[in-house]
Order: sequence, then structure tokens, then C-alpha cells
Amino acid sequence: MLGGMTVLVFLDPLHPHGRIVDASKPQLMATDLGATRGDGVFESMLARDGKPRKLQAHLERMATSAASLELKIPAPVQWERAIETAIACHNEEDTASELVVKLLVTRGVEGASAPTAWVQVSAVTRKSRQQRETGLAVTLLDRGYNSAAAERAPWLLMGAKTLSYAVNMAALRYAHAAGFDDAIFTSSDGMVLEGPTSTVLLATDRDGVKTLQTPLLKSGVLPGTTQGALFAAANAAGWRLGYGPLVPQDLFDADGVWLASSIRLLAPVNSIDGQSLSTTSDSGSALTVELTALLESAL
Ligand code: PLP
Repeated sequence: MLGGMTVLVFLDPLHPHGRIVDASKPQLMATDLGATRGDGVFESMLARDGKPRKLQAHLERMATSAASLELKIPAPVQWERAIETAIACHNEEDTASELVVKLLVTRGVEGASAPTAWVQVSAVTRKSRQQRETGLAVTLLDRGYNSAAAERAPWLLMGAKTLSYAVNMAALRYAHAAGFDDAIFTSSDGMVLEGPTSTVLLATDRDGVKTLQTPLLKSGVLPGTTQGALFAAANAAGWRLGYGPLVPQDLFDADGVWLASSIRLLAPVNSIDGQSLSTTSDSGSALTVELTALLESAL
């Protein structure tokens, strides 16, 4: 049983608004290719006051991820209805104002030809909310690929949000065991990539010119929906934007560094491998406040 209340709604052609199931009971076939091979894709989004945020961006990214696996998934309208059912069902029991809405779809049961798809809704954890405030001590971890691997070897599915997250979870455990809160992957040729569950952002403020940067997309990072929304809002507010390539020294030289993701939003990076960053200075904190406000306006 997951901590707190969890609602599961399966997408089912016989139930146009989704089929609510008991999350405390087994619901997947043991031969589901999602379970046996991690063969599927997923999305995690935030819902505030019952409304999923950046829904279209998440549905579009899931469609792109699925296409890279040649996986046929249910249409957006079916997801939208199941999400509505799941949020309503959660709200009947629990009044948490922030929810995690996960969309999951696998290649289905071995031998069958239909995907297995469901929506999972639960409350945002206290830890996620705390890390927005307290910030993170981060370590750099080698991803083991060079920054050209994604282009050279598309079968590695590097820019897709697949269910094969065991490596990402192992990286987080490795970081935690070494006393860090989170990690930033680097490529074997020394480029900054992404966090195991987040996008890296850095800001500089030089003579009043504010620039927001993120690593090069074609280096195999997941295109972040939070980064996308924040970049659009920052651009409209007069910020300059940059898309890498970035090396670790750029993080140490920046006026602020953050890990951005849909649930935790903007978590300040306080230090990298024990070296304090400018994010913790007064001007860094002011940038966190400014960027958080821009992100809130975009959600
Ligand atoms: N990069 C990876 C590997 C992720 O797993 C995630 C989110 O889970 C992100 C980046 C951030 O994406 P988003 O802002 O769309 O949540």
C-alpha cells in the first residue's frame, strides 16, 4: 500500500470515463510488459485545486515518448476523462490541495495487442514541498554516455520518459547514501545533462542582463515541461534564454542553479559536491523568488 490515499483509474474501452479500481489490490497481470520489461512510458504532473497543470504539454510529451517506442497509446480525450475521474475520486476522500497525477501506459500483456493504461493520483509528499524551500545538496554523477550518444544511438531512448527508471532511481540512492539530496548527471565528455528526475537550470545576472540556461537538448536529456513553461514566461518578462552546452564550471560560476520538475517545481541547488553555490546568496535567493513567481504565472 502506498503512503496516504492513492486512486487508480484504468483506461478501458468499456468505461469511457475510466474504470476505478482498488489501489490496495493487485491490478496488473504478472505478464504485463511494463512489469516484465519496463516497456512503456509515463508522465507525472501536478494538479492544484483539482486542475492538472500543463496537461497539454504532458500529453504531447507522452505521445512523443510513445512514438519513439513505436507504442500505440490511448487518445488524449481518454486520458483527460480518466484524469478527471481520478481527481474527483481523490477529492471525495482527501482535500489535499496539491496532487501528483501520474499517467502510465505499457505495451500490455505478453501476447495481447492492447496497451495497459492507467492514471494514479496521490497527494504531493511533504518532502517535495520542503525541498522547494530548503534547497538541495547535489552531487555530480557520470551518466556513462558521451553527449553524442542520443543522436548516434536513438534506440537508447534517451529523450523519452520510459518506465525504465531503475538507473535514475539507483543514481538517487547512490547520491543519498553519500549524504546528498539529489544528483546531476554529466556525460562522459564532461557536459552537464539533467537530474535523475529533473531539468538543470542556471541563471546569470550580468549588468542587469538576466539569462536563463538549460543543457543542450540533443545531448539526450528529457525535454522538461517545467523548463519549457518557465522559459516561455521568462522570455515574456525580458530574460535572455540559452540552451547550452553547459559544463560543471558553468554551474559554479552561475548566480543561481535549480532543479526543475513538475511536482517539486523549482528546487534551489545550494551546493555541488560540498562546494557552496551563489544560489544561497541574497541575490541568488532573489532570483529564486523571481523565477518561482514566473513559473507560478505559467502554471
Ligand atoms: N528529466 C528527467 C529525467 C525527469 O524524469 C523529469 C521529470 O520527471 C524531468 C527532467 C523534468 O520534467 P518535467 O518538468 O516535465 O517534470
